[in-house]
Amino acid sequence: MANNNADPIGTGLKERTERALSDEFLRKAVAYTTDKLRNGRMSAKEELGQWEVWRERGKAIRKHTIEHLDYYLGQFAANVAKAGGHVHFCQTGNEAVRTVLDIAGRHEAKLIAKGKSMVSEEIHLNHRLEEIGIEAVETDLGEYILQLAKETPSHLIIPAIHKNKRQIADLFSEHAGERLEPETKQLAAYAKRKLRDIFLKADIGMTGCNFGIAESGTVTLVENEGNGRMVTTLPKVHIVVMGMERLVPTFEDVEAMLNLLARSANGQKLTVYNSFITGPRREEDLDGPEELHVIVLDNGRSAQLGEPLYQEVLHCIRCAACLNVCPVYRHVGGHAYGSVYSGPIGAVLTPLIQQDMEEAGQLAYASSLCGACYEACPVKIPLHDMLVHLRHERVKRKLTPLGERLAFKGFRRMFGSSKAYRVATRSAYWLQQPFVHNGQIRKGPGPLAGWTQSRYLPMKPKRSFRERWADLQWELRQTPQTPQKPKTEDGRGSSEGGEAK
Ligand code: SF4
Repeated sequence: MANNNADPIGTGLKERTERALSDEFLRKAVAYTTDKLRNGRMSAKEELGQWEVWRERGKAIRKHTIEHLDYYLGQFAANVAKAGGHVHFCQTGNEAVRTVLDIAGRHEAKLIAKGKSMVSEEIHLNHRLEEIGIEAVETDLGEYILQLAKETPSHLIIPAIHKNKRQIADLFSEHAGERLEPETKQLAAYAKRKLRDIFLKADIGMTGCNFGIAESGTVTLVENEGNGRMVTTLPKVHIVVMGMERLVPTFEDVEAMLNLLARSANGQKLTVYNSFITGPRREEDLDGPEELHVIVLDNGRSAQLGEPLYQEVLHCIRCAACLNVCPVYRHVGGHAYGSVYSGPIGAVLTPLIQQDMEEAGQLAYASSLCGACYEACPVKIPLHDMLVHLRHERVKRKLTPLGERLAFKGFRRMFGSSKAYRVATRSAYWLQQPFVHNGQIRKGPGPLAGWTQSRYLPMKPKRSFRERWADLQWELRQTPQTPQKPKTEDGRGSSEGGEAK
């Protein structure tokens, strides 16, 4: 089984967005779940108290780590090795895949049990494993559902957010060869039965890494299903695939980050299973892998180091809080982004790590720039500013349509001269006439067509605000002024006319 990893980014942002917008079920499902997650986060942060202090702390930890990433990577690698593990630094996705294939080849592996890992999705690992006859089975329930459906995740922490029980029951029934009812317990029990076998038979367990702790070489994993524990203890070999930025210096730092992560992700005080893995099993251990490999992936991340506009994107802890509050994500879901990483963080991260301003760079427009993502982010990443910088970058590289560039040039000229502005606004009244119906433009020409597809544009009135203002001034000047009462010496109005008695 493998995910359908064909990268849909090539199908065009507009087409993907239109498809998502016309899917009524998807829109309702995404809005319903993101509402729940958002409300959970709000209550959890209120209950904890001093949330802004926690956010500042989180930001400071991430900032310090990323500013000294070379040091902490060295320390982390040395401590993993000291604990008996192996670290592999890989610059590209292909290099990371080759490293996994090498390890799998040495162990003649045929079956890999996978815990949730966005980085392995990023490098299309399942697909590559399948090509050489190695079966990789996702054991996180959401990922397992998507693997059967041959789909990619549409949310960072709830990958199957766009599916309901009925769809899952149909999927599982087809796989099981018998009818399963759309009951959560029955469906979960089916997945459990299937996956138990995978845990026991797998030659290799593979996971991502939430945080690597530099001072001890520890891999931290958080999850709610317990599958991560199985994957990291039963198979003889454990491979961790992690982004190079996912480090914190100390255990004390990880404690702060876990508090922020769980609360921001879904409002939990603490994720149910928190595993801290330092090296492979020792003689006295009852379980655990005989070999531990940690693959540290760059894949475009180091290009952001020292970049004043974008370095902070490496602070991300993948909590998905920005997705849950984003008005765009909440309408179109994750697949419309055409990338493994969706929502505001995906719109920034994807073009940067793929170093693709042309196609992936279009994601910078998948935002209303309202700043809700920044407000929700536990480590205060200014995603909305980065989206503006990315748009600017596309304009600088002339990647926006010619018509748009000419229109903005004209716009600049118009606003740069009051005479040109007056002429343009006067002629606009006459130019709009062929499109006006009952005082509204219902079907705009050219680029305006997109705007009027879902709303009407009020027609521009004949007289401009300036003209009406000038008229008003003139009228006021013509109106005889009411004579002012002369003031008395003490500054009050005169008593002419007598005091009110
Ligand atoms: S950008 Fe912030 S809110 Fe979004 S996933 Fe990353 S840490 Fe969470």
